[in-house]
Amino acid sequence: MKKKITKIGVLTSGGDSPGMNAAIRAVVRTGIYYGMEVYGIMRGYSGMVDNEIIKLESKSVANIIQRGGTILKTSRCQDFFTPEGRKKAYQNLKKHGIEALIIIGGDGSFKGAQIFSNEFNIPCVGLPGTIDKDIAGTDFTIGFDTAVNTAVEAIDKIRDTADAHDRLFIVEVMGRDAGYIALHSGISTGAEHILIPEKKTKVADLIESFKEKEKRKKLVNIIVIAEGDDFGGADELAKLLSKELPKIDLRVCILGHIQRGGAPSCFDRVIASRMGYHAVECILEEKFNVFIGVVNNKISYTPINEAVKKKQRISEEWMKIVKILAT
Ligand code: ADP
Repeated sequence: MKKKITKIGVLTSGGDSPGMNAAIRAVVRTGIYYGMEVYGIMRGYSGMVDNEIIKLESKSVANIIQRGGTILKTSRCQDFFTPEGRKKAYQNLKKHGIEALIIIGGDGSFKGAQIFSNEFNIPCVGLPGTIDKDIAGTDFTIGFDTAVNTAVEAIDKIRDTADAHDRLFIVEVMGRDAGYIALHSGISTGAEHILIPEKKTKVADLIESFKEKEKRKKLVNIIVIAEGDDFGGADELAKLLSKELPKIDLRVCILGHIQRGGAPSCFDRVIASRMGYHAVECILEEKFNVFIGVVNNKISYTPINEAVKKKQRISEEWMKIVKILAT
């Protein structure tokens, strides 16, 4: 009979997202509940390479469910891209007797996990921790809801001042490859235009629409643009619009890293807790090399290599809603 896994490691890797702490807490407490030893690996894969690995107790994760960031810290680890780096990481895991890993991170982190697991036969389970919601196989990722609500709060405030001065604001939100933060925050703040990487930005149409709005004296407008829009970011767009529409009073606001911080929303705390619990159950049931998702409010399991290959797609219907509602 195969020996049961009794020692697991947990790490947060890549871009941080609010709710990672809630996920760590769930993994640690569920693992301990099932009689496992749980080790925290510091700074993502760097802690594996540099042997920064600590045993976590139930009290190590007390009072963190409400905190943004990650108590394990995170990083982008260059060494892990190399076979030598990954070998060192494996040797360090062996030193501690760690037999399986739970990785909280984005698709890059999952890719690293897949390669590592294939090379050294260390089972891995992923939890999607990313504000961008850019992983296929789950309706939500840990941190998206908080990030989008932070953006909404900021854009509501921007609209107040835009309204007072009859201004056009271009608000840049995060999303290098995915437009979900822009789409959700834009729809929920009544943005007149939402520009996302998934959809080609037709600048001529945009200019035309502002000329038409100028004629009917609609001067208060918000454009929400994802940082990775195909046209460029807010600054590039502002330069072009100022040139083409010199009479328009235009300002740029780049929300930046505030979208990553702050207390996780109730929603993110709940999905992080559920996903963390199920990740440990996966290890017990030997459901290896999957990542946990939530689809139609049910926990789902997707092979980790599929998360790496596929991106979540934005349907045409979403774009139709944006067009109809934002006139
Ligand atoms: P995210 O997980 O947020 O998408 P990254 O893409 O930066 O973030 O990936 C996080 C880390 O995962 C990288 O710094 C690296 O250590 C590891 N990683 C990503 N891709 C690979 C790969 N192809 N091979 C090995 N490790 C990888």
